[in-house]
This record gives sequence, C-alpha cells and structure tokens, in this order.
Amino acid sequence: MGDISVKENIAEVESHLKPSVTLVAVTKTKPLHILQEAYDAGCKVFGENKVQEMVEKHEELPKDIEWHMIGHLQTNKVKYIAPFVSLIHSVDSLKVLKEINKQAKKNNRTIDCLLQIHIAEEETKFGLSEQETADLLDSGEFGAMDNIRIQGLMGMATYDAPDAQLRKEFGGLRRIFEDLKKRESEKMNMQILSMGMSNDFLIAIEEGSTMVRVGSAIFGARK
Ligand SMILES: *Cc1c(COP(=O)(O)O)cnc(C)c1O
Repeated sequence: MGDISVKENIAEVESHLKPSVTLVAVTKTKPLHILQEAYDAGCKVFGENKVQEMVEKHEELPKDIEWHMIGHLQTNKVKYIAPFVSLIHSVDSLKVLKEINKQAKKNNRTIDCLLQIHIAEEETKFGLSEQETADLLDSGEFGAMDNIRIQGLMGMATYDAPDAQLRKEFGGLRRIFEDLKKRESEKMNMQILSMGMSNDFLIAIEEGSTMVRVGSAIFGARK
C-alpha cells in the first residue's frame, strides 16, 4: 500500500467534480501523516466518523482544517467536538440536535448541521424518514433552538446497488431536499446535499449532490 499517491488520487477525484461540488476527504482510521499528506496536497476538509479520533487528529493538525462529523453521533459525546466541528452530517434525531444546540450555546457559537435521511434499502443505516424529518422541523423544540443551523441533508445509498437503484435513492433524496427549501428560514438554509462516496459519487453528482464524502478512492481500502 506504500505506493498509493494521495496527491494523485485527490487530483483524480477532483477532476470529476463540478465546481459546485465540495470534496470531503474521509480520513477515518488513517494515521496523521496521511492526513498531513492530503493537507499538503490542498485538502482542507476532512470527514471522520468517531468523536475521539476526530478530537485527537484536530489537536495535532493545522488549525485551518474543517472537521466534518459524518458518523452516528451519541448524545453524550457531542460536547467533545462542539468547540471546533465545522459541519455535522449525521443528525438523525431531535434528541441529538437538542444536545448540539446546548453545547453550541456553551461554546458561544452556531453549529452547522445536516439532517441524515434514510434512503438505502438496508435497515441498518441510520437516518430519518421523510415524515420524521417533517415532525422534527415542526416541533416546538426545534423552533426554540438558537445555536444550530440546518444547512441541508445527507444520505447514504444502498451499498453496491445497481446504478438504476442508486439513481433512484439519490434522486429521492434530492426531491426531499428541494421540498424542504420551502421551509427556508434563519435556521434552515438548504444549500448542502451531501451524497456520494467512493463507489457512487459520479452518479450522486449527476443526481444533484453538492458535497461528496470520499475515503477509499483517495486513501486506499481501510482495514
Ligand atoms: C466511510 C464513510 C464514507 C467514505 O466511504 P468510502 O467508500 O471509503 O469513500 C462516506 N460517508 C460515510 C458516512 C462514511 O462512514
């Protein structure tokens, strides 16, 4: 695996992105020197899925990196990332959003969030249904939160699904995204549609993605 050129892989992935699409380099499980290599190649947006790993890497690496939480977030761990996280992609309950709001307030800041929507066939993937999303946004509790801003949606398609199915799942997410634009307010600024990973980001972009989360296509397979 020593032969993998992170710099070349980033350039290759970026060559497929429209200017309107942001690349999140998914660095989970990768050691610091690899993240530094990606940083030196111009990548400034990193996605991690574990709180402790993100905190440790944030402490060691340059301060102009944007840290995105892309994994399921437990309520009791929000406080560790609240001081510095740039975007939380994985908000999947009112409960965790309330805690993010509380910790953002403690840190005197507003935290940008995406609602994670369940679009895959697999039962195991986290995420809200369309109805649960509407219920969350209609709740008085959401209305009372002053330290979070919903910037859009995130979804993960079924792993290894045929192209037609991926298109259907991403297209469905896009439709929900467009629909929620009707609710735009100070707290809802629907501008980010986070969909697409190493295996499916080309289709995700065709279906309207504005942010792709790419790991193995840049850094090689994870163990
Ligand atoms: C790991 C992960 C990715 C990146 O997956 P690759 O297939 O390595 O590109 C993207 N999004 C989420 C939520 C992940 O957990």
